[in-house]
Amino acid sequence: MKVDVIVVGAGLGGLACARDLQAGGADVLVVEARGRTGGRVEATTLADGRVLQLGGEICGTVHLAYRALAAELGLELVPSYTDAPGVDAYDLVDGVVFGDVWLSDEDRDALARMEDELLALARRIDPEAPLDHDDAVALDSMSVGDFARAHGATAGATRRLELSSTYTAGGTIERLSVLGELRAIAAGGGHSPRDYSMWENLKIDGGSSVLVDVLTAGLGDRIRLSSPVSRIVIGTPCQVVLVSGEILIADSVVCAVPVGPLRGIDVAGLSAERLRSLHRQREIPASKAVVALESQVWERVGCTGQILSERETGGFWVQDKNTLSSMNGPDLQGLIAAAPPGVETEQLLASLRRVVGDFGPATTLWRHWGRDPYTLGYVSHWAPGDLVAVGPLHGTHEPPFYVAGSDHWAAGYMEGAIATGRATALHVLGRSGEVELYPAAIQ
Ligand SMILES: Cc1cc2nc3c(=O)[nH]c(=O)nc-3n(C[C@H](O)[C@H](O)[C@H](O)COP(=O)(O)OP(=O)(O)OC[C@H]3O[C@@H](n4cnc5c(N)ncnc54)[C@H](O)[C@@H]3O)c2cc1C
Repeated sequence: MKVDVIVVGAGLGGLACARDLQAGGADVLVVEARGRTGGRVEATTLADGRVLQLGGEICGTVHLAYRALAAELGLELVPSYTDAPGVDAYDLVDGVVFGDVWLSDEDRDALARMEDELLALARRIDPEAPLDHDDAVALDSMSVGDFARAHGATAGATRRLELSSTYTAGGTIERLSVLGELRAIAAGGGHSPRDYSMWENLKIDGGSSVLVDVLTAGLGDRIRLSSPVSRIVIGTPCQVVLVSGEILIADSVVCAVPVGPLRGIDVAGLSAERLRSLHRQREIPASKAVVALESQVWERVGCTGQILSERETGGFWVQDKNTLSSMNGPDLQGLIAAAPPGVETEQLLASLRRVVGDFGPATTLWRHWGRDPYTLGYVSHWAPGDLVAVGPLHGTHEPPFYVAGSDHWAAGYMEGAIATGRATALHVLGRSGEVELYPAAIQ
């Protein structure tokens, strides 16, 4: 049996792409390795009925494609943790502090100056073609830490930047490319990714997994689960070979798997430059923990639930009623992997107790995404030099081979999966540029 398009990977990128392909009249088949759809968006339900998001959770005003699709599907967006009352807490190596009173006026000025410099530079960056900037090579070789110091960052300002980066599991600012940072700002409509009131202020009512459920239901039997792909041969026609040995045939292939597992798929018939570019990209390893409590324990100390930490966790934010999320990024992965069973949870809860005081029973669930063979990461990581090394082919296609998914966008997020998935569907259908993806109401 031959189909028009095979989409490999049923994460949000693959699902959004397949939906639009089908709506555009293509005969599409989605092939997914796991026994479920959603990829990095995954939910679980506790015995008390609470639905917990173990992966992608929050979106923001700047996420135009995600918001547009949610609106199209009739899903409501509600305020996220950024709306919680109280002050943020800082679990610093030298003690817990409520509010950013530990920053001096000089630190605050330095931070504001640096953000202004970044925003001004980002106005000259095309998020689709960051390497077109005249100083692209220099900007890519510089770390955000170096940039901060070059613009007069104080020790307190640098420390605050590190806390933000750890909080979102982005890794240290000493290993983040300035060009990568500028591209993210440009893709976010000129808003810094540290401006959570624009990047993380919304979530789908009922949880981000609702979007996966709706897309999955819409595609019905056009999705094949538990079918890992081992080989893709690009040609006329294309072949998609499953680990089981079964061969599927299509005119085009959309590859919507993360860049880590993609290196494990033997892809033939592509130019050497494209394969090199795809294989050069890296992901950040991260673990997410969700702590389900019996009450909003953070409120009794006047805290928003947003806790930024320099210690054994990346911190916390409010996922939902009585529930906190915690991201634990690359610099904590060694500690977590080496911990005897249960110690990772013990330390996570100890860190929460330091801020909010003692509390009753808590259910803690971990999801180690960096070790999951079908993800091998969290979001793309752009270390100094990476944008230049991956090169201008990033996010582009070599028909009949197409890519989709958040790794092919500027700044990860579920937005990247939806934006690339939908744009790729238009490319495959030959309608690129014809359709307005983001209605005026969303912008
Ligand atoms: C812990 C965590 C927290 C996050 N928090 C947020 C957040 O709050 N907000 C936000 O916007 N984003 C967040 N993200 C990022 C967001 O979830 C992802 O960027 C997005 O969901 C990725 O979608 P995707 O379709 O590109 O890739 P994926 O969701 O990874 O989908 C790829 C699919 O390909 C499949 N696959 C892999 N290998 C094969 C193979 N060989 N054969 C067939 N199929 C294969 C996988 O099983 C998977 O289903 C988070 C991610 C993680 C991990």
